[in-house]
Amino acid sequence: MVDDDLYPPQSPYHTGFAGLCPRCGQGHLFTGFINIAPKCEVCGLDLAFADAGDGPAVFVTLFTGFIVLGAAMWTEIVYEPPMWVHLVIFLPMVLIVCVGMLRPLKGLLVALQYRNKAEQGRLQS
Ligand SMILES: [Zn+2]
Repeated sequence: MVDDDLYPPQSPYHTGFAGLCPRCGQGHLFTGFINIAPKCEVCGLDLAFADAGDGPAVFVTLFTGFIVLGAAMWTEIVYEPPMWVHLVIFLPMVLIVCVGMLRPLKGLLVALQYRNKAEQGRLQS
């Protein structure tokens, strides 16, 4: 395979969480906050294959629910604070955790997609 000959294999976790190109590990994967660049500016990898779909949102929702709900329940059980304390602490925490995890998880899923050569299933003719 040409990619493996020219570029050493990159860890999808390192490149994905850092938002770097899954082939060379140097170019940037994103142009905006979560917009995928058309191609890598270093190695020229066409990033049109990168379609994580709803995958990152699903993981962000599940992780956020686990972290924030767990923290809210622990706080309620241990301290029994008034309701406004939950609103002040955990509503912003939902936003921070969601926004903070979306880009790294999208990068990870795109890097894993590249590494595992994942694509749409096709009927054999
Ligand atoms: Zn690259």
